[in-house]
Amino acid sequence: MVKPRVYVTRMLPSPALEILKEYCEVEVNLRQEPPSKRELIDRVKDKHALLCLLTDSVDSEVMNAASDLRVISTYSVGYDHVDVEEATRRGIYVTNTPGVLTDAVADFTWALLLGVARRIVEADRYVRSGEWKVAWSPTLLMGCSVYGKTIGIVGLGRIGMAVAERARGFNVRVLYYDVRRLPLEVEQRLNLEYRSLEELLQESDFVSLHVPLTKETYHLIGEEELRLMKKTAFLINTSRGAIVDTRALIKALKEGWIAGAALDVFEKEPIEEDNLLLKLPNVILAPHIASATVEARSKMAEIAALNIISVLKGEKPPHLVNLDVLNVKPLEEVKMI
Ligand code: NAD
Repeated sequence: MVKPRVYVTRMLPSPALEILKEYCEVEVNLRQEPPSKRELIDRVKDKHALLCLLTDSVDSEVMNAASDLRVISTYSVGYDHVDVEEATRRGIYVTNTPGVLTDAVADFTWALLLGVARRIVEADRYVRSGEWKVAWSPTLLMGCSVYGKTIGIVGLGRIGMAVAERARGFNVRVLYYDVRRLPLEVEQRLNLEYRSLEELLQESDFVSLHVPLTKETYHLIGEEELRLMKKTAFLINTSRGAIVDTRALIKALKEGWIAGAALDVFEKEPIEEDNLLLKLPNVILAPHIASATVEARSKMAEIAALNIISVLKGEKPPHLVNLDVLNVKPLEEVKMI
């Protein structure tokens, strides 16, 4: 039997490569940067599996080049960078790594929320720059209190729910908006209040985004939505950059429609050097690291590799995105090991 060939678009934490190497021939892009589109196309040509990252756009052009590709495994929960419809049509399995990064992202969301409300990054800059000359000042770097406030969670899936759970310790009231509403008794048991997006924006002190990037959520938060928020409210985004219209957000922050924002994700990553967000003091900016804990990233690596091995063994992978593919190309037909 031919040994399956896998292309891995970046060096991953252990144990992804060890797992793959047990069954497959593995080629890895060892550079820090993602492969260029051309390189990706060249590399996948003779491969049976692709382990990619959210920085790799896997579209029909890439799939055209890979006539024997059976599985695209992304090292992320979000899969907006993969043309899933196209993959399904071609009988290519698409898998992701949900669940294992939920707590890491939820923790980081609260870190951003507390950071922007209590001005922690500004405070750090203040101390380091040598500006701290008076021992204690009654009004220095006053922030906004978090305890007892209201958070509005947009997208109450795995991560949104984990963010909601953490609100209890801060006595923060939780509103949520989602296309799928929970049964009333579950809402009551978990102390969650359903709102329309408009109501949530109007009532929340913190708005936190946890929806996937889709055609429906692209620029879900634009000028109109930002104008609905309280002037004292903060926007936290750890989902995907394009869910927020950056131009509208910059305007909102400059003109004081909202108090501040904390962002882990951007429409363009890495952020453009001339992006005005870099100049605004009431914003915290992080380089897409919400899931970046040693624990979460190694679990993600393990799952991304196991997803590939399962498909190639002709078994249903732990996290299959495109369930319909099972009807297009049954598992027996993709089996290689
Ligand atoms: P999930 O699928 O469990 O939750 C998403 C929720 O959004 C679901 O409840 C769904 O019903 C809801 N939703 C979908 N479309 C909607 C719409 N149009 N309007 C309102 N609600 C809608 O996903 P998850 O595991 O919680 O992850 C959420 C997203 O977070 C991912 O898709 C990913 O893009 C992002 N993410 C970012 C990082 C990071 O490093 N910053 C890490 C992990 C995940």
